[in-house]
Amino acid sequence: TAINFSHNSFAVISHQEKENHQLHQKIRLDQMTGAYNHTTYTEEIASAVESHNAEKTVFCLAMVDLDNFKTVNDTYGHDRGDQVLIALCDILRKHIGTADVLCRYGGEEFAVILREKSLAEAKRIMEAAREDFYAQVYPFTERHITFSCGLCQHQPQESPEALFIRADRLLYDAKGSGKNRVCIGTE
Ligand code: GH3
Ligand code: MG
Ligand code: MG
Repeated sequence: TAINFSHNSFAVISHQEKENHQLHQKIRLDQMTGAYNHTTYTEEIASAVESHNAEKTVFCLAMVDLDNFKTVNDTYGHDRGDQVLIALCDILRKHIGTADVLCRYGGEEFAVILREKSLAEAKRIMEAAREDFYAQVYPFTERHITFSCGLCQHQPQESPEALFIRADRLLYDAKGSGKNRVCIGTE
């Protein structure tokens, strides 16, 4: 009957919409780690900056880079290196909130957009993740694998690029001062 036909059509359309949505979500992700990809980072950081400027909600940006990762690959192989990247993302996801955005910025470098968080709150989260990652045990080594992090809070009217440069400089400071640490901005 007409009623059944119309009912089924809706079912088909909503199924298709669901598939479209799932596909769209999939292309925003990095397949290996499940983190968002670089393109999504660019969109998400722009949106966070825009909403901060409009609504005065603060947020922070953390740049995370694995320490001595070339050595990890050279010593244990690329596949184990991949496992470390996956473990890192699992741990970061465990610590950040549902509104926060974890992105694979490139290679072994990740960006975390910590939405509606003060620098102190963001620091607590990244320090806890750093300690948790340090304590991670691997089936192929008894050594600790670590990351360094640069963290800063978005300033009013600051561009995404300027914010990134600050976070990246702080990451560089974390590397230069011994690695396995979170360096935060002084604002
Ligand atoms: P630092 O502590 O200064 O960051 O040293 P590092 O060795 O981590 O830095 P470097 O930039 O020299 O090496 C980064 C390495 O990350 C080199 C590259 O092969 C590796 N890498 C990038 N992407 C992937 C990936 O998807 N899988 C694996 N296994 N390795 C990757
Ligand atoms: Mg590195
Ligand atoms: Mg790097």
